[in-house]
Amino acid sequence: MSKNKIQFQKGLSLPEFSKNYGTEEQCLEALLKLRWPEGFECPKCQCKAYCRLKRRALFQCNACRNQVSITAGTIYHSTKLPLTKWFLATYLMTQSKSGISQLELARQLGVSSNTGAMVYHKLAQVMMERDSYKPLSGNVEIDDAYWGGKKKGKRGRGSENKTPFIAAVEKSADNHPIHIKLSVVSGFKKEELKQWSSKHLASGTIAVSDGLRCFTAIEEAGFEHKVVIVGNSKDPKKLAPFNWVNTILGNLKSALSGIYHKLSSAHLPRHLATFQYRFNRRFVLGDMINRLIFVSLRTLPMPARLLKLEDYHW
Ligand SMILES: [Zn+2]
Repeated sequence: MSKNKIQFQKGLSLPEFSKNYGTEEQCLEALLKLRWPEGFECPKCQCKAYCRLKRRALFQCNACRNQVSITAGTIYHSTKLPLTKWFLATYLMTQSKSGISQLELARQLGVSSNTGAMVYHKLAQVMMERDSYKPLSGNVEIDDAYWGGKKKGKRGRGSENKTPFIAAVEKSADNHPIHIKLSVVSGFKKEELKQWSSKHLASGTIAVSDGLRCFTAIEEAGFEHKVVIVGNSKDPKKLAPFNWVNTILGNLKSALSGIYHKLSSAHLPRHLATFQYRFNRRFVLGDMINRLIFVSLRTLPMPARLLKLEDYHW
């Protein structure tokens, strides 16, 4: 592969990262700016004067004495983990192209495997919620995909024990991929595809699919839809309309299977979300850390039971 622009994207080097976010105080300063860009404001009385309490990350309003934790009501809610570890996790989950496994994350953070899993899934949840509000537009390749099982995904019979998901790629006018969307579905049913299209495609979108029956729901949802029948053909000319979705699915599968031997289907949406989030922001690699922390501060708390981590198999 040629040395292209994306591969040479300048991220944040680990020494640079450590220099900027190596101490609790530096991380707290960064959180303060991201949570209250206009400066602290008491949520009760809107007073802007405050003092810092000794206890980490606690602010007290000078007027009404209300105490505000900088992490309360966010994805970091009631965390006991130092901020430096949350920041490092954000760095590790955004800066590597193929991502990082929960276990590797735990090792690098120096925390237990349970804590590593918790941090991984909370940040993955932020990534997932963030991208769920951004529909694709313009020219979109769309395909049915499956995760799990030993053989390549088959449609219908033979797809048992596999988790189905929709893979869609938005392309530029000169046929380069811009954004992707990877959505786990309960099955390739018309009603599900119709709902998916209404939520994840912007008006004016032109979708191309290989004509799996449920994809006619894209038209029913009001979008232009072209069908290109490929069948089992390996002819590159016939497959050309799906070049990007196929390439990205290939990259996704090698990234995830390199990291995980076994993926629980309950967790698949979040694993897909981490890949999708990084792909969609690959042109702003260095910026991703601040962006993810900004959104983390605006994502509601996610208790462990909702993350379904109790059945995780290492
Ligand atoms: Zn106040």
